[in-house]
Amino acid sequence: MENFREDELLLDNNNMNDSVSENLDENGFPSLDSAKSFSSDFYSSGTNWSCLVTENAESSEEKKKKNKKMKQTDLFQMWGFKKPDTSSASTSKKIQMKTDVGFPSQQRRVCPFYKKIPGTSFTVDAFRFGLIEGCSAYFLSHFHYDHYGGLSKGWSHGSIYCTPLTARLLRMCLSVNPTFIYPLELDVEHNIEGVKVTMLEANHCPGAALTHFRLIDGRCYLHTGDFRASKLMQSHPLLASHRVNLLYLDTTYCNPKYRFPSKQDVLHFVVKIARQTLKKQPKTLIIVGAYSIGKECVYLAISDALGVKIHTNASRRRVLQSFGWPELSGKLCSHGKDTPLHILPLSSLRHETLKKYLDTFAYEYTTLLAFRPTGWTYSETLGNQLDLIRPTSKGNITIYGVPYSEHSSFFELREFVQFLKPDKIIPTVNVGNAANRDKMQSYFREWMKS
Ligand SMILES: [Zn+2]
Repeated sequence: MENFREDELLLDNNNMNDSVSENLDENGFPSLDSAKSFSSDFYSSGTNWSCLVTENAESSEEKKKKNKKMKQTDLFQMWGFKKPDTSSASTSKKIQMKTDVGFPSQQRRVCPFYKKIPGTSFTVDAFRFGLIEGCSAYFLSHFHYDHYGGLSKGWSHGSIYCTPLTARLLRMCLSVNPTFIYPLELDVEHNIEGVKVTMLEANHCPGAALTHFRLIDGRCYLHTGDFRASKLMQSHPLLASHRVNLLYLDTTYCNPKYRFPSKQDVLHFVVKIARQTLKKQPKTLIIVGAYSIGKECVYLAISDALGVKIHTNASRRRVLQSFGWPELSGKLCSHGKDTPLHILPLSSLRHETLKKYLDTFAYEYTTLLAFRPTGWTYSETLGNQLDLIRPTSKGNITIYGVPYSEHSSFFELREFVQFLKPDKIIPTVNVGNAANRDKMQSYFREWMKS
């Protein structure tokens, strides 16, 4: 299901190994085996859109196509949004022919409308659909699997636009052919097929961007990708002074039950716990769980506060080095014995696994303190009160789940929407269920009224 998010997936249950996608290694990066299987598994990977696109058993391919289109039109109508005119008939025809030659159409998935930018031939985070009819530019918001899924070494369906950091990761981790990659510097207006495109910092993982489109007729569309809305974002000239007509919104936490503290508050809490623990037991090994990219600030905060280096395995070090952040690169070290701060895959954050890990450093450390940062570590009663967080302890192993989120809370979403006052909002997450969609639309209506 597209509603799959890496952090949701990982924290829905405690059995981390069961949750990691088969295409990714324990660090959340594409595994070598999966790189090979990407092409064979191209059209069956990832999302099940069946709830948005009705499959039918009719044998005629034309009827099938027609019905899928009708279903999408219904959604456009339901959400009060007209279907975009994606391209001229001749372009469609040309691309359709190529599609028919290259791939058996019964294996194709239809790109849902909310991944298409109306009035353009652009899509955002729509790689898993292969060649999309009429699409001339494929935008990638950030390097998380649920957004780049479908991209591989063999990608040849069109130009990929993303930030320079994401571009580096595409080349390094997926071996995507560089001739297809067009890095777009943040905060610079780029002209792509007559559309003015600007990437803005998304306050999500490294390289993540909001994409702002200004069409020839002056209409402005903002696609948030995954983001955590902030006050700083509101001061960006593009958002402060231009009306956004259409907002594609990361609705991961679009439910009032999701109240969590600011990132800064969580970092203070983590540092406080680390210091308290070390005061009691100086021979403590500190572990931060991490999956894929993102949440780097958690271990950077501990590293800064304690004045220690950061140890992690070679594959993660390589990825972290590629960010080009001197303050991070300079702190990485390859030997676990050289620092009491280690990064491990989230799948390792279990008492038994951590106990074995601690045993390998028995000469240096006697206890272990681990942090599992995620937006999903929340409880209705906890709210913003971090001091109410209770760790799980077993022997000399203590694990804290901390609500460090790189997505907007419900109230941050509301504030962002009320600031932007867009004409229309299209949710991009948790949309596979009609009740969810209705609920979100009712929140949006409420927010726009006030
Ligand atoms: Zn993400």
